[in-house]
Amino acid sequence: MREIHVSIPVRMDDGTTKVFQGFRVQYNDAKGPTKGGIRFHPEETIDTVRALAAWMTWKCAVLDLPLGGGKGGVICNPKELSNSELERLSRGYIDKIWQFVGPDKDIPAPDVYTTPQMMTWMMDEFSKLTGKNEFGCITGKPVSIGGSCGRDDATARGGMYTIREAAKELGMDLSKATVAIQGYGNAGCNASYLCKDILGTKIVAISDSKGGIYNKDGLDLDLACSIKGETSSVVHAPSESAQLISNEELIELDVDILVTAALENVITEENAPNVKAKIVAELANGPTTPEADEILYKNGVHVIPDILCNAGGVTVSYFEMVQNMSCYYWNVEEVYERLDKRMTESYQIVLNASKTYNINMRQAAYVVAVGRVVEVMKLRGWI
Ligand code: NAD
Repeated sequence: MREIHVSIPVRMDDGTTKVFQGFRVQYNDAKGPTKGGIRFHPEETIDTVRALAAWMTWKCAVLDLPLGGGKGGVICNPKELSNSELERLSRGYIDKIWQFVGPDKDIPAPDVYTTPQMMTWMMDEFSKLTGKNEFGCITGKPVSIGGSCGRDDATARGGMYTIREAAKELGMDLSKATVAIQGYGNAGCNASYLCKDILGTKIVAISDSKGGIYNKDGLDLDLACSIKGETSSVVHAPSESAQLISNEELIELDVDILVTAALENVITEENAPNVKAKIVAELANGPTTPEADEILYKNGVHVIPDILCNAGGVTVSYFEMVQNMSCYYWNVEEVYERLDKRMTESYQIVLNASKTYNINMRQAAYVVAVGRVVEVMKLRGWI
């Protein structure tokens, strides 16, 4: 729908001025203001931002949120910038795009390498430019300044609700089920605890970019988490607690549920025939290639597609907007309850579409999402 390309001059700490390139892409706003994160990354490209903006459109539509899809990015390496340089860059980005964003136009959020603090600087800059407090112009803020309770683990939690529904559909006894999780960052680490707390499953394998660990009797999550915090990788867990496995081995483990929470394209036509899990839950964006998708479907693996499985994050971001607009804040139980309801309903609608049209869950999610956007575009007279 719209692409904004900006140059952002930033006064660096050494007195020089550096110019950064930034983008904001608004893909489709038929169903409501566009919504999507902002990435600060040295290899950011306009193509990635375009693709992610399109994905956000379908993700919001599959959850039937009154939002469209957008995404933003700035080419920079935040690890090489001081805190004050990051603040000036965050404010500078808003200075360049503020006329095109806002609570009723386009609502950014954090994404790769952007933080709640940066969202707060951006919100503050937007408020200064518009002359009023506009907490709802950006989500992912700290709770003390208008963030929502429950946003931290919302992506993983939403995924858990869809796994619970999938297990019901497959007649899987979750109390006896085993789980392997690829990726141990925000989504994966929260998923490991919530798999245990919400689903009652046993986590037998986890991994990060350095490799993975496996224990058929179940991993000690507190130990894995503290090792990850201290050494930056779970592979340093003591050998008596778990054995080492590669990320490739993790994908093919004999488990009931495989959770992908790292990168894109990790289930391919090479390893898909060897996936033994009965449920694949895509917390990551794009972990399964189209070729692998067909193989999994033929082999009877129930894939919960990314635009459904990981939509808990944007759903609680939407809740944050609603709370900001009404100036009334919900407790964490209310957030969980509303998230569960949304995720469960959406899962069931996608499952019904998959049965009705005899298609896989991903195709079904797109049938639902694209159908909703097209319906609104027709009603509005755009097509
Ligand atoms: P993160 O940076 O916190 O964690 C990523 C994890 O993946 C890290 O543990 C990293 O070590 C691991 N990793 C990197 N390369 C790997 C590799 N080759 N093999 C195995 N593990 C590897 O990121 P995150 O926020 O947890 O996001 C993970 C995925 O979930 C991404 O695809 C992201 O787009 C998606 N997602 C996240 C959210 C959210 O709210 N955090 C929302 C929607 C989708």
